[in-house]
This record gives sequence, C-alpha cells and structure tokens, in this order.
Amino acid sequence: MIAKSLRLLAALLVTAVAATACGKEGSPPVKGPSADELPKYEVAQGFSLPDSPTWKRAAKRGHFVVGAKEDQPYLGEKNPANGVYSGFDIEIARMISASLGLDPKKIAFKTIASANRETALQNGQIDYYVGTYTINDNRKKLVGFAGPYFMAGQSLLVRKDEEDINGPQDLAGRRVCSAAGSTPYQRIQADYPKAELVAYDTYSICVDNLLTFQVDAVTTDDAILLGFAAKAPDELKLAGKPFSEEPYGIGVPRKDNALRFAMNDALEARQKNGDWKKAFEATLGLSGVPAPTPPPIDRYPAS
Ligand code: GLU
Repeated sequence: MIAKSLRLLAALLVTAVAATACGKEGSPPVKGPSADELPKYEVAQGFSLPDSPTWKRAAKRGHFVVGAKEDQPYLGEKNPANGVYSGFDIEIARMISASLGLDPKKIAFKTIASANRETALQNGQIDYYVGTYTINDNRKKLVGFAGPYFMAGQSLLVRKDEEDINGPQDLAGRRVCSAAGSTPYQRIQADYPKAELVAYDTYSICVDNLLTFQVDAVTTDDAILLGFAAKAPDELKLAGKPFSEEPYGIGVPRKDNALRFAMNDALEARQKNGDWKKAFEATLGLSGVPAPTPPPIDRYPAS
C-alpha cells in the first residue's frame, strides 16, 4: 500500500513535469482550465476610484498585486514552468481587476499561505487577496471582505480504502492534517479536541502526508478537497458531509471601504453578465461540481 502511494506520488510528479515540458505560455495543464473556455474580461475604460488609497496606488503602478494560493487544484494553481496562475479564484481576481479599470493580464500574483493573509493585507504587501478566504467576524476586525463569491463547507479527505472515518466525530485518536491559521483547523481544535491535529502551511503538504500514511485525513473546504480527489481518484475520496459554511470573500485592507464597495458592484455585474458562471465551469467545474447559484453579496456598512 505504501509502495502504491509512493508510485502515485511519483506518477503525479511525472505528470507535472510532462505538463510543464510542453507548457508554453497559455497551454493548459493536464485536466486544467483551458484558455479557450475562459471569459475575456474587457477592461473598464475611464474608471476611477479616488477614495480608495489601494486603487490609487495600483493605478499609479499600472496593475494590481494580488495574493493567492498556488497549490489548490482548480482554485489557485501556479504552473511551475512559466509561473502562470490559474483557477476559479484567479479568474475572480482577474474579472475584478478588469472591472476596476486595470488590465487583468498585468496582475502580479503572490502566493500567500492561509496564516499570513491578514498581515499581507495590513502591511500593503498585496492590494487584495483571492484564495479560498472565509469571511468571518474575527477576520473582519483585521481586514475587509468583498463578496461572498462562493459558498464552500468544511469536509474530510481520506484514502480510498478508509471506512472508519465518515465525519468529524470519527476523528478521535486519528491524525488529521490542516493548514495553520485556517478556519477548518480552528474548528477541529475547538469542537473535536480528541483528534490529533497536525498543521502545515499548505493543504498539498497535508495530501502528501495522507498518501504516505503519515496522517489519516485532511480537513478543509470541500471545494479544495474535491480538486485533490479529482487528481488522484484511485487513491483519495471525500468522507461524510460538509459540516460548516465557508463563504469565500475577497480580502481587502480593512479601512478601504471604497475598494470593497466597488468590488461588490463588480462581482454583482459579473454574475449578471454570465462571466462568473463561465469562469466557474472552466475551472472549479472540472472537479465535478456543477455551477451553483452564487451566494448573496454581504454589503455590510463602512467600518
Ligand atoms: N476557507 C478556509 C479559510 O479561509 C480554509 C481554506 C484556506 O485555508 O484557505 O481558512
């Protein structure tokens, strides 16, 4: 069994190398988003947002700097050969940039781990963040959130032959891996204290640990886990039902209400004109999820 999983890891690596070997700019990764099916976002002409310090800085620079994930299949992935990011979160970042008048092709993406998002927004390292970022009241004290643009739920990923883990209640005495600073990590710690929690910076490291029998489960949002399961369907499966609500928001600097409001308008317009759905189907839809109705936008007042 261990040998089999190691072989799978090797196979995944080979696939990654093969995909990158022929990966000229714009050519899709294996089973990844295809450039032809992605919407083209027309850049809004004459757009100006003088009340937003973040927007003004970006406009002067000529592009946005956006925080994202680089190892989450169909959500935020970075092609190691050419540095190009792809996935649903990346498309959200691009459509927002275009609506705010800045060329989405010029966005500088920066990979930021779950535990470092608030600091990155607070110290101006990034203008905004799009990466499976749950909106909640604790985080709202530190950053602002546009959206939500998608609703996920915490779930469990296990090896295909696992029969004893069917929900978080079955984690007592089992090793479960999640990302430091994430809401799924915090929920297991608070509500299922008998689980043996293991934390890493990223979920891809957790998945490697699951395939090599270092842990018994990985926990985070179903949207993320479905992507990993879709890439290794013979080895991995989701267990049980989602047991939380994780509304995904676009993180912005906390005091920049003008930016947040403009992004909410942009999101709504992209839902209405069909770009949101098209982007979903060409990315996260590839992990087997049909495009849902997007959740209502939370236009909370200026703070
Ligand atoms: N949505 C959860 C969170 O924001 C888990 C995914 C992640 O770590 O990005 O904490």
